[in-house]
Amino acid sequence: MNASSPRYDLLLKGGRVVDPRNRVDGTRDVAIRDGLIAAVTETIEPALATKVQDVSGLLVVPGLIDLHTHLYHAVTTYGVEPDPIARRSAVTTMVDAGSAGAGNFAGFRTFVADRAQCRVLAYLNISYPGIFAFDRDFMFGEARVEGLLSIDRCVAVAQRHRDLVVGVKVRLGGGTSGDIGLLALDRAVAAAERLGLPVMTHIGKPPPSYAEILARLRPGDVLTHCFRPAPNAPVDAQGAVLPALVAARRRGVLFDIGHGMGAFGFASAEAALAAGFVPDIISSDVHLLSVEGPAFDLLHTMSKLVACGLALEEAVAKVTDAPARALGRSDIGHLAPGAVADVSFIDLVDARFPFVDVAGVRREGAVLLRPRGLVRAGISIAADPRPWEAAYYRERGSSQ
Ligand SMILES: [Zn+2]
Repeated sequence: MNASSPRYDLLLKGGRVVDPRNRVDGTRDVAIRDGLIAAVTETIEPALATKVQDVSGLLVVPGLIDLHTHLYHAVTTYGVEPDPIARRSAVTTMVDAGSAGAGNFAGFRTFVADRAQCRVLAYLNISYPGIFAFDRDFMFGEARVEGLLSIDRCVAVAQRHRDLVVGVKVRLGGGTSGDIGLLALDRAVAAAERLGLPVMTHIGKPPPSYAEILARLRPGDVLTHCFRPAPNAPVDAQGAVLPALVAARRRGVLFDIGHGMGAFGFASAEAALAAGFVPDIISSDVHLLSVEGPAFDLLHTMSKLVACGLALEEAVAKVTDAPARALGRSDIGHLAPGAVADVSFIDLVDARFPFVDVAGVRREGAVLLRPRGLVRAGISIAADPRPWEAAYYRERGSSQ
């Protein structure tokens, strides 16, 4: 390199960097080279960069990771396209939660993961067809037919797609697993054990109960829909956190929000948070039946948790550092030099926004997190508008 050639490809100038893994919270410049973070310091000379992007006034955080999404669009009835959701919520990594099983995962790779600009990873469903019958009035659980729950097929396909598959998914409860819920969970755990990967389990209406599911989970396994409303809420009728949750957390089981259309209740969240039981990970469970509300996407779900009293810095950790650790990825979820240059820009807007949970309960929040763009492996991408929030601002005569 000669003296006049720029040292960096992109310089993000003047933002408030919040990087929980590296304990950074303050004004920093971030320099990027060859798709990787090259330097994060208080000031970096603009002349050293080919391109400078002014991000002053914005929150600059590691690229957001949405650990629970459904992206098998057109092939399943409820999948959403990853990139439009990523752009409107400043998300750089989306993890599909079991839309595909061993029987159709090759299509997920070809038609979804390989084509997406954002990073797409996946939990492989223990059920051979994945989630094949899921719309508003027609649902048939993929985990209720024992013959579909092939450990061998799941292991073989996960091994073939080891670069994409991050764990084994199982959905339990009500009609989803019928009367064989615990058997389905045992099959998922057995497959995950052979792969050396975690399980992500959905919890629905009992059976099985919250305690029965948790008793079978291992350190590093993820329980999603952790703050669902009763039945199978995380708290009892008096608002006390179930002892099974406390015991599972002590063992290293991870608790994930997975908002979706039916799995986030303010009553559950507020009682758990008041008792000091904070979720490990925030995710959206975005799919066609939740993308127009009540979940919308990861950024909206984060705003909701902040409205419930979670500190902003803590909320950032739960969509960056924590999911990266759950995925076993040391190259994403933080901004140390050498990490992949995935970065999200967020605006903190004072707004008395009326948040709604899955039961229609309303809470007014004090702050709305708005996307202002992202960087994916060093490439800068503009944020897309959020129509439901735009209408809110328009009603109040604000251009924001
Ligand atoms: Zn889901």
